[in-house]
Amino acid sequence: ATPTAVMVATGKGASLGVLIKGGNALEKAHKVKAIVFDKTGTLTVGKPEVVNVMLFSSVSMEDFCDVAIAAEANSQHPIAKAFLEHARKLRQKIESNRQSNNQHVTEAKDFEVHPGTGVSGKVGDKMVLVGNKRLMQTYNVTVGPEIEGYISEHEQQARTCVLVSIDGKIAGAFAVTDPVKPEANNVILYLRSMGISSIMVTGDNWATATAIAKEVGIEKVIAETDPIGKADRIKDLQMRGLTVAMVGDGINDSPALVAADVGMAIGAGTDVAIEAADIVLIKSNLEDVVTAIDLSRKTISRIW
Ligand code: ADP
Ligand code: MG
Repeated sequence: ATPTAVMVATGKGASLGVLIKGGNALEKAHKVKAIVFDKTGTLTVGKPEVVNVMLFSSVSMEDFCDVAIAAEANSQHPIAKAFLEHARKLRQKIESNRQSNNQHVTEAKDFEVHPGTGVSGKVGDKMVLVGNKRLMQTYNVTVGPEIEGYISEHEQQARTCVLVSIDGKIAGAFAVTDPVKPEANNVILYLRSMGISSIMVTGDNWATATAIAKEVGIEKVIAETDPIGKADRIKDLQMRGLTVAMVGDGINDSPALVAADVGMAIGAGTDVAIEAADIVLIKSNLEDVVTAIDLSRKTISRIW
C-alpha cells in the first residue's frame, strides 16, 4: 500500500474508533486467516458478578467474608473486584442484623499475586488462598468431592468458581458469572463467512471456557493457559503458515498480542495490553475486529 493509502485508512479508522498504530498491521490484517480471542473481558463483558457463596467448613459467613476480603483487598483482578463488592455488602447486612459493629477487616500481609490462578497472603495468623483449583493444588490443599460437585455444577453454567482456603483447608467458595458481549456470536459467524476461523484461549478452566465458547459459537478452545502459553498458541498457528490476529484486554494477553501478526487490544482493557497491540478497538466492540480487517482490505485494493 502507498503511504497515502495508509494515511487515509488510519484517518478513517480513527473516525470509526479503530486506532491503527502503524502501516505494518494494516498491511497484514487483510491476510488474517485465524483470530485468537481471549475470553474474560474480550468475548465477555468483563464485569463479573458473584451469584453464589458457599461455606464448606464451620467458619461463620462473617469470618469467611472478612478473611477473603482481606486477601483480595489489593488485587486488581476483575474477579477480586466483584467479590469485594459482594462480600462487603453481605458483611454489612450481617452486621446490621446483629446491630453490632465488630469490624475485623484488614489487609493481608505477604500478599502475592499468582497470575492465572489467584492470590495468597496472611490474614492475622492465618494463611489464606483465594483462587482456582490449580492454586489449591500448588499448595497441596485437598479439594474433596463435595467441593468438586459445587465447582462442576457452576462451571456447566459458564460460571467461574473461586475457592478460599484458610490454613490449608477449603473454607468456602463463590461463583461468578460474566455474560458474553451481545455482538460476540454474530461477529464469530461473520468472520467465518469471511473465511476466518476463531479460537478461544483463556486462563480460566476448561468447563467454563467450553460453555462460553458454545455460547459465542467458537469451536476451538484452549483453556488453563498462562500468558506464555497464550503466545505459544499463536506461534503454533503461524508455524502452520497462517497469518494470525490476537484480540485481548489483559496483562496476561500482552505476550500473545506481541507474538501475533496483528495484535488488537480492547479499548477498555489494561494499559499494558493497549501498548502491546498494533490496533486498539476504542469502543471495545467486537464488530470493530471486522472493521479493522475491512480497512486493511480496502487499503490494499486501493478502494479509496
Ligand atoms: P483470562 O485468561 O480468562 O482473562 P486470568 O488468567 O486472569 O483469566 O485468570 C484465570 C483464573 O485464575 C480465573 O478464572 C480465576 O479462577 C483465577 N484467578 C486469577 N486471579 C484471581 C483473583 N485475584 N481472585 C480469584 N481468582 C483469581
Ligand atoms: Mg482477559
